[in-house]
Amino acid sequence: MKNVAFLGLGAMGVRMAANILKAGYQVTVWNRTPSKAEQLVINGAKLAETPRQAAQNADVVIAMVRDDHASKEVWLDPDTGAFNSMKQGATAIDSSTLSVKWVKELHQHASERNIPFIEAPVSGTRPQAESGQLIYLVGGTQEAYESSKELLETMGSVINYTGEMGNGALAKLCTNTLLGMQVATLAELISTLQRQQDSDVEKIISALSSTATWSASANSISTLMLKQIFAPMFPVELIEKDFSYMLEATGHTSPVIEAARDVFRKGIDTGIGDENMTAVIKLYQS
Ligand code: NAP
Repeated sequence: MKNVAFLGLGAMGVRMAANILKAGYQVTVWNRTPSKAEQLVINGAKLAETPRQAAQNADVVIAMVRDDHASKEVWLDPDTGAFNSMKQGATAIDSSTLSVKWVKELHQHASERNIPFIEAPVSGTRPQAESGQLIYLVGGTQEAYESSKELLETMGSVINYTGEMGNGALAKLCTNTLLGMQVATLAELISTLQRQQDSDVEKIISALSSTATWSASANSISTLMLKQIFAPMFPVELIEKDFSYMLEATGHTSPVIEAARDVFRKGIDTGIGDENMTAVIKLYQS
């Protein structure tokens, strides 16, 4: 049975690591804040003190951390980074949502060390991470993708191969741009409907949902906004990060994407960065 090291036990990582453990793999975990590993350790995972220590006996090392900066630290820190200790033939997988520029740079660092590496960002949020229903958007060599697929299937229901390194990040950032656009637009539309005299917002939304313009995401976004449920699933600050990475990939030539990014940025400035992305409707409600 393969040894897997899992680095980063935030809202997504802790649920993903639990599924690997449940599937019977030997799992060593590491998190910057070690207390988040408690339940996994009770369930049989080993706890490492550094990414380097977690990675040393692993056949596969997976990172699921916040952003480019955190990814750089866990893989490349000169003292504690996982690349310092990975054994010959072990595969590195980064599932964090990263910029295209960084993921290519990270691939270069892995290649220089002869470490097979794939990017494997995911679509889906906490419930999908918990139930092993994530959708993977893998980029890298076909060979590394094939050899990692069985492990990824313990956490995901669809494992897409998007091609060479960087395609996974692009696919993920496009997905979140489409998602965030709907959040930003529905925040304006729903708050406008709520301000109209005599409007029946629920009936209008129900009618909209019967048209071809509606989407599965629009359903959950509008429900959360109408019920004022803003507990974090995918927080404002994470989607703002992803919009910024998307804008970097476009070369900052996308006024519509930039305008949507600024909605989430305004959300952070007004103190709702750690609430769910749907909380941006509050920007238009008095
Ligand atoms: P999260 O709950 O905020 O967890 C972030 C993780 O990154 C934590 O383990 C955190 O450690 C670690 N981290 C942050 N900065 C670090 C640093 N400088 N060095 C080392 N570790 C660091 O975020 P999440 O929701 O799990 O998301 C993780 C990744 O998945 C992000 O890239 C996100 O964009 C992406 N994603 C999220 C969702 C979602 O719905 N939430 C869905 C798909 C993809 P501490 O515990 O010590 O803070």
